Amino acid sequence: MITKEIELRDWEEEYININPLQTGGRTYPDTRKAIVSYIDGYSICDWCKGALGITDRPPVREFLDDVSKFLGMDYTMLTNGCREAKFAVLHALTKPEDAIVVDSNRHYSTYVAAERAGVKVYDVPSNGYPEYRINPDNYAVVIGNVKKETGSLPKLVLLTHVDGNYGNLVDAEKVARICHEYGIPFLLNAAYSSGRMHINGKKIGADFIAASGHKSWAAGGGNIGLLSVAGQWKDKIITYSRKYEIKPLEIIGCSSRGSATIALMASFPYVKERVNHWNKEVENSRGLMKELECLGINQIGVKPTEHDLNFVESEVLFRISEIHKKKHFYLYYELKDRGIVGIKPGLTRNFKFSTYGKTEEQIKHLAWAFKDIVEKHGN
Ligand SMILES: *Cc1c(COP(=O)(O)O)cnc(C)c1O
Repeated sequence: MITKEIELRDWEEEYININPLQTGGRTYPDTRKAIVSYIDGYSICDWCKGALGITDRPPVREFLDDVSKFLGMDYTMLTNGCREAKFAVLHALTKPEDAIVVDSNRHYSTYVAAERAGVKVYDVPSNGYPEYRINPDNYAVVIGNVKKETGSLPKLVLLTHVDGNYGNLVDAEKVARICHEYGIPFLLNAAYSSGRMHINGKKIGADFIAASGHKSWAAGGGNIGLLSVAGQWKDKIITYSRKYEIKPLEIIGCSSRGSATIALMASFPYVKERVNHWNKEVENSRGLMKELECLGINQIGVKPTEHDLNFVESEVLFRISEIHKKKHFYLYYELKDRGIVGIKPGLTRNFKFSTYGKTEEQIKHLAWAFKDIVEKHGN
């Protein structure tokens, strides 16, 4: 029977999970209860008013208004994820063959969304190994190149606020200023920032913010994202079907119509509170990086780190894989024996992980575990 093959998952209960995809999407006990009570198909639609975003029972409409205030934006739509939010903007603002500009640390889904929209992508390069820093001024250079090459300005500029490889944080305000000088709309991809740190779209000058509920807003039970829009773009992005006038076009009427929306709502009070402790998260992450550097496990990306996600490089850990009986899977097993999961099985030389939401005690334990592995197996 197929259900027997689905292992019960106990990573959140039994281990310290440092998988960067998962640390910010970990649900709270209240969230889990809410998810379970809305687990059946379409149960969020009991009191449907014609579209999910205007539902008052549960209070989706009020929630979305609160999110707009929280993000310093004017209108917010639910999407199935950050990628769907990006695609909605691309679809609304571009035609095939148009040009857009993105940073080279972008997530693959930015590129795939652009491909689906049929637009040409121009990359703002980073400074490469080992920092992979994106210099905001280079946006002006690439925008100029697009104008020279194609005869017109790009239709949209996108910045990955914090990228998912190195956890580099880019000064979004500077990129926004450049975009506004040229009159190009600016989409901030906040998949790894909003829900973790304070984001104020007005202050930044973002026209659109794309966020990921299951990545950074403690939501689960499915996929969920947010698209927040500045007022002047409302009529371009929040358009409606001509035939079904209540249905927003870019999210095909309703988007995440299930327990993931409930999860996002249930976690929101916790998220609003937790962004106040972002400094502590960065402090924890920096503390661990310092300990790991002493062992020869070195952070790649901008230093000192400004995020809980970090990419490291380690010859020390790689050399152990050449003598350990579990080969390159040893790190996974050695960490698991010490109560830690979340580094991709098989990786030893380069890998990433996240300390988001960990206590000081857990950070100490992480530092101890790596030290213990290096001392026991290294030479
Ligand atoms: C994870 C991630 C995404 C994708 O988020 P989804 O909500 O799963 O679509 C997009 N951009 C960045 C930078 C990410 O890290």
